[in-house]
Amino acid sequence: MPRPILARIHPDAIRHNLHVARQRAPQSRAFAVVKANGYGHGIERIYPALASADGIALLDLDEAIRVRELGWTKPLLLLEGLFEPADVALAVTHRLTVAVHCDEQLDLLAATRLAHGARPVDIQLKMNSGMNRLGFRPHAYRAAWERARGIDAIGEIGLMTHFANADDGHIDWQLDTFDAAVGDLPGERSVSNSAGVLWHPRAHRDWVRPGTILYGASPTGVARHIEDTGLRAAMTLTSRIIGVQTLAPAETVGYGRTFAVEQPMRIGVVACGYADGYPRHAKSGTPIVVDGVRTRVVGRVSMDMLTVDLTPCPQAGIGSSVELWGDQVRVDEVAEASGTIGYELMCALARRVPVQVSSDHAVREREAAAVA
Ligand SMILES: *Cc1c(COP(=O)(O)O)cnc(C)c1O
Repeated sequence: MPRPILARIHPDAIRHNLHVARQRAPQSRAFAVVKANGYGHGIERIYPALASADGIALLDLDEAIRVRELGWTKPLLLLEGLFEPADVALAVTHRLTVAVHCDEQLDLLAATRLAHGARPVDIQLKMNSGMNRLGFRPHAYRAAWERARGIDAIGEIGLMTHFANADDGHIDWQLDTFDAAVGDLPGERSVSNSAGVLWHPRAHRDWVRPGTILYGASPTGVARHIEDTGLRAAMTLTSRIIGVQTLAPAETVGYGRTFAVEQPMRIGVVACGYADGYPRHAKSGTPIVVDGVRTRVVGRVSMDMLTVDLTPCPQAGIGSSVELWGDQVRVDEVAEASGTIGYELMCALARRVPVQVSSDHAVREREAAAVA
């Protein structure tokens, strides 16, 4: 029998979350962001849930081709653009829209001779409005746009930037920079990530680019910031208790003996560790659900196991179900207790964890069977 760990992916939650995103930005078209293999969920698994998106955005050429092969005919955006000459032909063949963030990428396109009848490549010309990662500086943006407009291999030119801290409420400085630099240039605007979608209507513009909220994780990494949004977890990581120890006061649990019990305590050993993608930095106290009851991780997370306090669930024993994250414990809660954000945990789900795609229908059937 395989270890009892399992990740379940919920396309219905993603469909719902996309709907939430669209309702938050009703005037905008939406690129569903599925980089990093759909934030760890698996592009093929979630693809059916993205049907209502107006576009899909990601950054691996290979992933983009996979999406086209699934039958996607709407816009498909490469967020980091092209890396080498061979990429241009693929972008043409697969009708990719590509971000262009530097002169070298304009050079690549300028050096391209389109085959007779081939469609030029639509681009999103990226401005560095203060993030200081990718993009043309505001003062250089118009010149880049003029140059792009003169390149035969370039079709439509969209205008794009990315916020450094849409999650803590301060976007005006970047948005004002962007607006001033693009002025009245023609072309569709795209500036908002998930945080912009949820909290900055002023930044919605023509296209929004929600990523993390599609998966039910918080743009800030703080679970309670999305409490009122109705977003649902798209990934549930579950396992089971495979061992139980009853400790006497002053005894410790796990490597480094970081947790000592004060009163007699039943400890459950869960088949999940950092080699499954659960963060080793999770502190004692990190929430976890055993047999439907919230309790806490205690002691250090090891490679294949972690340990939990069974005090709140005295009925629990070997075989009891455990939710590491999902709808009962938000991935962001685990992330907060581990000094990271939900994005990282979702993306870091380990290959060795078996994954199952569930549907609401399947869940309802299981629940009905459990009641019967
Ligand atoms: C990742 C990414 C997004 C989506 O960000 P979220 O915070 O996950 O919504 C949007 N735009 C760009 C350019 C990105 O790289």
